[in-house]
Amino acid sequence: MESGSTSLEQNLPVMEGATCYDAPIKSGLRSARQSDEGQVRDSSWRSSVLRTVVRMGQAISKRRLASALLGSRLAQRMWARPVWTDTVRILAYHRVLDVGKRAFPFDHDLISASSALFRDQLRFIRDHFNVISFEDLARAEEAGRPWPDHGVIITFDDGYRDNYSHAYPILRELNLPATIFLATGHIGQSAPSLFWWDLVNYCMTHTSHESVTFDEISSVPISLKTRRKKHIAVHNILTWLKSVPEESKRSFLATYSEKLGVSVPSDIADGMHLTWDEVREMAANGISFGSHTVTHPILARVTPEQLTREVVESKRTLEQELNKPAISFSYPVGDSPNFNQMVEKCVADAGFRYAVSYEEGIADAQISDRYALPRLHVESHDTIREFKAKLMYPGLLLSRL
Ligand SMILES: [Zn+2]
Repeated sequence: MESGSTSLEQNLPVMEGATCYDAPIKSGLRSARQSDEGQVRDSSWRSSVLRTVVRMGQAISKRRLASALLGSRLAQRMWARPVWTDTVRILAYHRVLDVGKRAFPFDHDLISASSALFRDQLRFIRDHFNVISFEDLARAEEAGRPWPDHGVIITFDDGYRDNYSHAYPILRELNLPATIFLATGHIGQSAPSLFWWDLVNYCMTHTSHESVTFDEISSVPISLKTRRKKHIAVHNILTWLKSVPEESKRSFLATYSEKLGVSVPSDIADGMHLTWDEVREMAANGISFGSHTVTHPILARVTPEQLTREVVESKRTLEQELNKPAISFSYPVGDSPNFNQMVEKCVADAGFRYAVSYEEGIADAQISDRYALPRLHVESHDTIREFKAKLMYPGLLLSRL
């Protein structure tokens, strides 16, 4: 996960100095202590909403600026100059679907594009860039060559089935490669489970409660009377879930649906994730697969044992199923500080060659850490013009100022 100017991977709470395991844990404890002071929590909730609104405004201004620049002659002359050698733009997609927001019970912010927009985006990439894979990068580096000029790598996180049903046919039609990062524990399961962010959204969509209190987050009841209030509640719940240790997350989710009075059907996730047969078919036709862990935990929040298990087991499963090396990795909720140097070392030690974050930017052969390559987010609200601007002038469109 996840995308959108209001999405959660972009709006994680910044925990200063959180470069080791105990920092996020202390943050979780701090939240617990604050739970004795309703005023503090209420204020924190309002601040979070305000930050979201401010960031949305900033993102819109940047998009307008970039769209205006894109149409200028000066911009076109700049584009004609070969100034982007030895860099790669790595696009971060999640889902490609054709559904309306109101009819969709899961995390709509994860829909990166409709089928039609995705096709338009790929046509632009095909016509103006050199679409490559991580394997191409590795071959260039092994041969001592520079990275391919105007390189773009198309990536998808999580392994939703629409990558096969919606994105893959368009990728084949245009003969373009892509890399899909799988949370291997969700692939091909006989009783598949929802990702936790989809569970949070699903229950919030279906609850008939007009308010709810989650003591772990706030003693102040949360109003759920309107769609907008539910949307804000989801945002803040997911933000909180990403800031606490895995155990706290698990225990919160265990009672979440019950607190909202929602019964989640046992077959709710049927057909939601890729199967191994679909993965193998795509692998035989130009699609590469990398790891997104086994269960999609935030790797800076797990024990060293679970960190190793998530990284090593996912690689082993991918290689057993596909019979080829898995060389790329994507950190779940991959903004700093959700991965750290210990996590990067674990990924490198496991034998991965590259890892991508969810930090926004373009990867530079000279300066980029091969285990923290930035990406360009693709959001469903991007117009094709904004998408083009994002690729051509990525510095103008970073979500964070
Ligand atoms: Zn993810």
